[in-house]
Amino acid sequence: MSELALFGGPKAVTYVGTDLNDGSDMFKWPIITKEDEDAVLEVLRRGGMSGTDVTKEFEKEYCEWSGSKYALGTCNGTAALLAAMYGAGLGRGDEIICPSVTYWASCTSALTLGATVVFADIDPLTLCLDPKKLEAKITDKTKAIMVVHYLSYPADMDEIMAIAKKHNVKVIEDVSHAQGGLYKGRKLGTIGDVAASSLMAGKSFAIGEGGILQTDDIEIYERAIAFGTYERFTKDFQTEYLKPLAGLPLGGHKHRMHQLSSACGRVQLKHYDERCEEIRKAMNYFWDQLEGVPGIRAHRVDEKTGSNMAGWYAAHGLYVPEELGGLSVTRFCEALRAEGAPIGPGCNLALHTHPVYNVADVYNDGQPTRIAFANKDVREMDNDLEVSETIGKRTYNIPWFKKFDTEIIDQYVAAFKKVCANYEELLEGDQGDPEKLGGWHFFKHTAKKD
Ligand SMILES: *Cc1c(COP(=O)(O)O)cnc(C)c1O
Repeated sequence: MSELALFGGPKAVTYVGTDLNDGSDMFKWPIITKEDEDAVLEVLRRGGMSGTDVTKEFEKEYCEWSGSKYALGTCNGTAALLAAMYGAGLGRGDEIICPSVTYWASCTSALTLGATVVFADIDPLTLCLDPKKLEAKITDKTKAIMVVHYLSYPADMDEIMAIAKKHNVKVIEDVSHAQGGLYKGRKLGTIGDVAASSLMAGKSFAIGEGGILQTDDIEIYERAIAFGTYERFTKDFQTEYLKPLAGLPLGGHKHRMHQLSSACGRVQLKHYDERCEEIRKAMNYFWDQLEGVPGIRAHRVDEKTGSNMAGWYAAHGLYVPEELGGLSVTRFCEALRAEGAPIGPGCNLALHTHPVYNVADVYNDGQPTRIAFANKDVREMDNDLEVSETIGKRTYNIPWFKKFDTEIIDQYVAAFKKVCANYEELLEGDQGDPEKLGGWHFFKHTAKKD
């Protein structure tokens, strides 16, 4: 009989979690204790949900923790990113360069500013913006580069910052996957001109719907406030041209953070580094056990360089089908699921292939929104971004371990080892991969009611 569970063998993974979010379960996240509950209830009971006092405390603590001078809490990460783009000066006819393989909110709201997105390719090993492909995308219209520390991997900031400096464009970091992570000893979110993060319940820094912007630049900070946080846009601003406009939000947006989120955020922040450290210990252990196994590679940085994988949000692995007789990643994942490991193929689909970026006339301009204010057609052609278009066949998610419990992790290690070792049995019946692998988003509401 085959060893593979897909063909009737015993499952490698027998772990059954507690499904409690008190830290007893291997996967349940975020960890919520009485401390979070008390903080949230305090705000709820006094009716402070729409105030700013707790949010300002959270911002102050976020600054102390991250090393940024200014922070601005927002209603979600998408709003923080839009405010960061506006803060960096992005406006009508401007271009922002963004990797094509990321969550849509990294760049899509640039279209509401009348700006357009120019997509750049990613590196097949880091899955982040490839600096070698970046410079060719810069034009006299480029205002900013959106860097995403994708799937927790710190992007190559030295190279990217050098290119940005040379061409005098701003760098925005999307830190939604990597809050608290390091790049060569420096905190992510403090290297570019401004950064924005989602703090949504599915992220590693999870406080509920919420986002945060951080910067050392007072003008960017004040522009971000002026755009969507009207009650904090006052005449005592330092940026002269903003002063006379105080009182109404320039963007007509309302970005205020819900204080049940900031109250939760203050508590989560206290424990965040410690919890991430445990995650990294667990995840690094997982990959250490799989070192040298044909067909799979870790997607992780070498911590000896002073960089790390933050809270290892949306952990993925790299796939090398050539080492497994051309086995499709789809079939590979099917075998892993049969072993009891919930693994699926692909990552985010390349944004430049979506109709919103090609044909949609969202604002009735009589032409696709993407090029409505551009001075040329910036839309990519098929095969322009080769890595972005094919990376789905070379990636899969891996379990996001929250606890350093080697006995449990070893079960998942055994599942991967078993599937890789027995790949030949899987070749028969392999239907191959569909043409596009991955999704536009992958957050699922897993929370169950009691
Ligand atoms: C989740 C996410 C966002 C958007 O944040 P929301 O809080 O959901 O609005 C932006 N960028 C990336 C890379 C994300 O993963």
